[in-house]
Amino acid sequence: MRWTHTFVPTLKETPADAEITSHKLLLRAGLVRKLTGGLYTFLPLGLRALRKIEQIVREEMDRAGALEVAMPCLQPPEIWQQSGRYVSAAEVLYHAHDRAQKEWVLGPTHEEVITSLAAAEINSYRQLPKNFYQITVKFRDEIRPRFGLMRAKEFIMKDAYSFDATDEAASASYQKMYDAYTRIFARCGLKTVAVEADTGVIGGKFSHEFMVPAETGENEVVYCESGRYAANIEKATSQGPLVPTPKIPVPATPEKFATPGVATIDALAQPPYGVAPHHQIKTLIFLAESKLVLVLVRGDDQLNEAKLAGLLGTSQFRPAEPEEIFGALGAHPGSLGAVAATLAGPAAALPVYADEALRGAAGMTTGANEDGFHLRHVAIDRDLQVTKWADLRTVQAGELCTATGQPLKIRRAIEVGHVFKLGTKYSEKLRAFFLDEQGRSQPCIMGCYGIGVTRTLQAVIEQCNDKDGILWPPSVAPYTVCVTPLNVAAGSAAMNWAERIYTELTAAGVDVILDDRDERPGFKFKDADLVGFPLRVSIGEKSLAKGEVEIKPRGGSVTPVTAEEAVAKVLALLDPRK
Ligand code: ATP
Ligand code: MG
Repeated sequence: MRWTHTFVPTLKETPADAEITSHKLLLRAGLVRKLTGGLYTFLPLGLRALRKIEQIVREEMDRAGALEVAMPCLQPPEIWQQSGRYVSAAEVLYHAHDRAQKEWVLGPTHEEVITSLAAAEINSYRQLPKNFYQITVKFRDEIRPRFGLMRAKEFIMKDAYSFDATDEAASASYQKMYDAYTRIFARCGLKTVAVEADTGVIGGKFSHEFMVPAETGENEVVYCESGRYAANIEKATSQGPLVPTPKIPVPATPEKFATPGVATIDALAQPPYGVAPHHQIKTLIFLAESKLVLVLVRGDDQLNEAKLAGLLGTSQFRPAEPEEIFGALGAHPGSLGAVAATLAGPAAALPVYADEALRGAAGMTTGANEDGFHLRHVAIDRDLQVTKWADLRTVQAGELCTATGQPLKIRRAIEVGHVFKLGTKYSEKLRAFFLDEQGRSQPCIMGCYGIGVTRTLQAVIEQCNDKDGILWPPSVAPYTVCVTPLNVAAGSAAMNWAERIYTELTAAGVDVILDDRDERPGFKFKDADLVGFPLRVSIGEKSLAKGEVEIKPRGGSVTPVTAEEAVAKVLALLDPRK
C-alpha cells in the first residue's frame, strides 16, 4: 500500500476528549474517528489491525474445534422474556420498532439466540459436544461509554457457546476455551493474566476473566506475587482482616448511649466516642425483590455487592431509601443496627446476613435503631439473630493469601475476555433438551466465552506504546514494515530502491506500506513512529552512495545493511526462526 493512496489522518495535537493514552493514540494515529460518544468509525489502518486480531481469534477458535456461525443482531424480545433477561438485563438493552410498531431488541450478547437454535436442532447426545462461535457486533446501552473503544455502545465481540451432555464434558469444553484464550492473547502480543471471576447467581468455580494489567483499567485484581492466586476483587478472598475482630468479655446486656448527630463509622471513631471502626458493626439495608434485608460487615470493611448478589441469588437489589428504612426500623441510616431487642414488629422477621469476619465478635458497637443512639458491649452470638453467615467483605491490600500466606496486592486491569460455565440456566429456560444414552430428556450443559475484540485492539495499544506513539506487535500491526524513501522523485535512486524493496517484501507476503509522501524525512519518521509500524526501512541518497539502506525496529536503533540484503534482513527480523 502506498501512503498517498490510503488514508492515514494523523494528528499532531491530542484530541481534547481523549483521557487515556490508548484512546489518544487511536485518534492521533488515524486508526478511528468518533461519530458520537461510544460510536466509532474504523479507518483503513485501524480496520487492518482489527481484522488481524479477528483472524487470530478465528484460527484459535477453529483449532479448538469451535464452529463459526453468524447470528442476527436484531432479536425478538420474546426470547429475552423467556430467559428472564428482558428484565434483569434491561439497562443494557437497546430497543427498535418496525413500521408495525413491533418491538425488537439489538443483541448485547447471544445466549438467547444460540440456545433457541440448540433447542430446535439438538435432540440427541450423539450431536454433542458442540461449540458455536461468531465474531459480530454487539449493542449495549452503557451508562458511561468512555475511553474510546474500551466501553462503547456498539463493539465487536467474539462470543462462543458450548453445549455438552455431562458436567465432565462441559468442564473439558471450558478448559479448551481457557487454553484457546491464552494462545489468542499471547499471539496478539498482549500480556494477560487469567483471574478467578465472579460467577454471580450461577455459582461454582468455572469463571475466569482475562485481564490486561493497566492503571486505566476499570477492574481491580487481587493477586499474590507467587503467581498462585489472582481473582477479580468481586470474587477475591483472603485469610481475613489483618486486625482481628474483638472478642472481649462484655457485661450482661448491651448499653445504649447517646450519639447525637453521629451518622457515620468515622464520626463514631472520633472523640468523645473513640470507637475504633473494627469495633463497630456496619448495618446496611437493601431492597431485594421488594423485600428488605439487613447486611452486616465490620465497620472498617466494605461490602462486596457481587458477593451479596451471589448470596441473594439475584443482582436485582438496591440500597433502601431513607424513608423505606425509617418505615421499617424506626431510625435513619447512621443509627441502624440488627440487635434483636431493637427490631420490633415486622422488622424482627427481616433476614440478617452477616460477614464471616464478624463471627464470634463481642464488645462491638452498633446503631440502636433510634436516631441519635448506639449500643455498646454487643456480642453477636448473644444479641443478634443472624439468618446466614457468608463472605461479604471486599479484600484489602496486604491481607494474607489463603493459598500461600503471603500479603495480597491489588492492581487495576482491563477485562478483555471472559470464560464462564453457565450450567443449565439458559437451556432450561429456552428448552434446549436432548435425549441421553438412556433415552432420558436432559438440559444441555452450557458454557459461554467472550472476547471484546475492539477492546482487545485498544488494550494492545494501552500496553504497547512509548512517548512517540504505538509499538505494534508484528502480529497485529496494520502494516508490518514501512518503507521510507527520503527522496520520492520518480527515477531517483532512493525511490527506485524503495519500489524494489516494497515489491519484493509484498511478494514475500509481508504487509508493507510505502511512505511515498513528498515530505521532510523527520516528518515522515514521526508519523511512522506514531502509527507504530514494527520495522522501518529508510532509503536515502547518502547511504545509497555506500550501497546501504537503514533498518530500524520501532523503539530500537538503526542498523545499516546493504540495499541488496535489505529484504532478506527484514524477513529474518520478522521471523526469528529464519
Ligand atoms: P464489563 O464488566 O467490562 O462491562 P462484561 O462483563 O459486561 O464487561 P461480557 O458480557 O463478559 O462483558 O462480554 C465479553 C467481553 O466483551 C468483555 O470481556 C469485554 O472485553 C467486552 N465488552 C463488554 N462490554 C463492552 C463494551 N461496552 N465495549 C467494548 N467491549 C466490551
Ligand atoms: Mg458490561
